[in-house]
Amino acid sequence: MSTYISVTLQRRIRQQFCNRCAYCQSYEALMAVTFEIEHIIPQSAGGETVLENLCLACPPCNRSKANRHTALDPETGETVRFFHPQHDRWIDHFEWNQIFTELIPRTSIGKITIAALQMNRPQLVKARELWVKVDRHP
Ligand SMILES: [Zn+2]
Repeated sequence: MSTYISVTLQRRIRQQFCNRCAYCQSYEALMAVTFEIEHIIPQSAGGETVLENLCLACPPCNRSKANRHTALDPETGETVRFFHPQHDRWIDHFEWNQIFTELIPRTSIGKITIAALQMNRPQLVKARELWVKVDRHP
């Protein structure tokens, strides 16, 4: 669904997230694609088009997340909510591996979000290797 989001609000969100994906932390300039303003709680689940429910996301994270904000944890059988970029602190739920190429979950929310959004997709891990080499990541 495409919803009108004012230019002012879009600018504010880009500034807040420093032109990085709120989920995988990739820089828009390094991915060579235009990042998207994403509804954290999907509109189909009642999420509103307000700052507190919007974030900046790279297209692959946004496509993978789709219209979801929870997923089933296959290990516990419980429904776990995704990381909420406006309410949660990224560092509380994720950390980098020693060479900064893969995300490691710190919580069940981190685990389910990494899996659902494919935040360690092979192409991205390879790109992170290069970004580390040129001192642009993390
Ligand atoms: Zn992303």
